[in-house]
Amino acid sequence: MNSPLPATPPRRPIRELPDELISQIAAGEVVERPASVVRELVDNALDAGASEISVKLTAGGVRSIVIEDNGCGIPADELPVALKRHATSKIGSLADLESVHTMGFRGEALAAIASVSEVALLSRTGDAPHGHRLDARSGELGPAARGTGTSVEVRELFFNTPARRKFLKTDATELAHCIEAVRRHALARPDVSFSVWHDGKLVEQWRAGEAPKRIRDVLGDGFVDQSRSVEARIGPLTITGRAGTPDAARARADQQYVYVNGRHVRDKLLAHGVRSAYEDVLHGNRQPSYALFIDVPPELVDVNVHPAKTEVRFRESREVHQAVRRAVEAALALPRMTPAESAPASDASPVAADTRTAQRWSPPPQVQGHLGLQQAATLYAQEAPSPWLGAAPMAAVPVPLSTRDDPTSFGLGMPSAPSTAPAASTESPDTWPLGRAIAQVGGIYVLAENKHGLVVVDMHAAHERIVYEQLKASLGHAAIEAQPLLIPVTFAASPTEVATAEAQHEALQQLGLDVAPISPTTLAVRSRPAALAQADVTELARSVLAELAQYDASNVIARAQDELLATMACHGAVRANRQLTLTEMNALLRDMERTERADQCNHGRPTWRQVTLKELDALFLRGR
Ligand code: ADP
Ligand code: MG
Repeated sequence: MNSPLPATPPRRPIRELPDELISQIAAGEVVERPASVVRELVDNALDAGASEISVKLTAGGVRSIVIEDNGCGIPADELPVALKRHATSKIGSLADLESVHTMGFRGEALAAIASVSEVALLSRTGDAPHGHRLDARSGELGPAARGTGTSVEVRELFFNTPARRKFLKTDATELAHCIEAVRRHALARPDVSFSVWHDGKLVEQWRAGEAPKRIRDVLGDGFVDQSRSVEARIGPLTITGRAGTPDAARARADQQYVYVNGRHVRDKLLAHGVRSAYEDVLHGNRQPSYALFIDVPPELVDVNVHPAKTEVRFRESREVHQAVRRAVEAALALPRMTPAESAPASDASPVAADTRTAQRWSPPPQVQGHLGLQQAATLYAQEAPSPWLGAAPMAAVPVPLSTRDDPTSFGLGMPSAPSTAPAASTESPDTWPLGRAIAQVGGIYVLAENKHGLVVVDMHAAHERIVYEQLKASLGHAAIEAQPLLIPVTFAASPTEVATAEAQHEALQQLGLDVAPISPTTLAVRSRPAALAQADVTELARSVLAELAQYDASNVIARAQDELLATMACHGAVRANRQLTLTEMNALLRDMERTERADQCNHGRPTWRQVTLKELDALFLRGR
């Protein structure tokens, strides 16, 4: 209102942009960092029919990326054309575009890359007497020695666009992204050998073989052992791969791979379809791991919706969503259905036919005469106005949980409660708000009796909350108290994990974790937070590293504190299926009473519920 509008800048005439600038603009979409170059060039090598691809990087790929393949090669006279914008050998008509079966088809990758770096192509076709080398910048073309195939050399990425170069991270981080790019291809193409070199050293190698072996080589034994085979043919779709079991879920979505016709995509629809299969078995922000390969006739999917081709559009998106969900559900439900199928699914078993898959989708038969806790709750919820499980607030039963008068917590303010009461644990059993422990049910619920009736506690969620608050309180003071490990725990780490451990060493120490590389592929943990005695140190370190990798070095703790602590707390909390003694159960209840907001776990789920005597009466139709 009070500042005058800026003066309109003088109008410039409309002009066509120079070719180089057009390519640089296009490069903005497809070339974000060395890893994007790696991705495009490996795409090209695969399209050329290569069975062996090597990726050689210097300084995280920023200084140079050299990709060599044994594919069909490019004839000498076509080398200059390959570098032109919108020049491609992969499509020639609209009809071709609608049934693309190659990774590339836009004809812009080489032009875009050459506009922001120094590129040279060296190639030889099968029938040529020798190879040729073309220097993109000088245009110099001459004979060169080479076997059949192509080498693309990319040096000094972003040398002429310093603003973009500034966005690059450390060499270790860029290397990690490059390796991840090759890993994605490697998962989809077990028939091709891949190797990655960095500064002259071999850092990754995957030899050609069968699909199950490749999944194991790339994602590790841990993933394979804690996942189930997905094999479904639904309508025109074939969905294969592996889906991680719910208890193998992670803090971060860093192990979720989806491919459509061999192309790695990050597609919201597909991710949602998978996620919904885990709906009932995965809580809050835990992330499932999976590698899924969806094959669909090319005419049913449009791959030309994103310059970097990481998104796709399906003609029948609802059906695809459903199919993905059902395929994963079937895989996850498999061992619960029939005992005969409970053996680990064989990787070699044939793709399930429609009918067989359909059978697996049906819910397990109800066991007559036996009502599980959950089913009882559901039944009860249908009749009673205030269900005691689920998201609705509980009936107004006065139970003072904390001395704070918090109107938001369960709506359970107790008008007459003495607001200056000392810590609940000093009172006698009769006045313990959460009552006296009586049993443990289903490996996860602690039952207690208080004067209002029955208290049901989700012991993992409750303990998680307590540990979380403890960590938070100690971090509030300075750093989380660290407990040195007598024997350091070492584990095989991914390049991203190693890079993160180096870059975030201080942040980790503040969290009570001393994690440092002892080799390019091994990390050693020398201390862990004292409050997390229960935690599996390797798993804890891994989750925290995965989380830290998402943030920049500055202010990590301040920005991500709550999430980090939640992750750590989850590892520190008692696991389901641990038998607790009555003493341990009572200790948990007393800790809950002392802990602020103990009625919500860190994932927003309730940690305990009251079932009043009146509600129990209603359940048994007493006093009606
Ligand atoms: P696109 O892959 O979309 O066709 P590119 O700019 O990536 O576009 O590549 C242009 C053309 O160069 C390709 O269509 C292909 O004919 C040729 N080409 C690129 N890389 C290779 C390679 N490694 N081997 C054989 N031909 C290649
Ligand atoms: Mg290409």
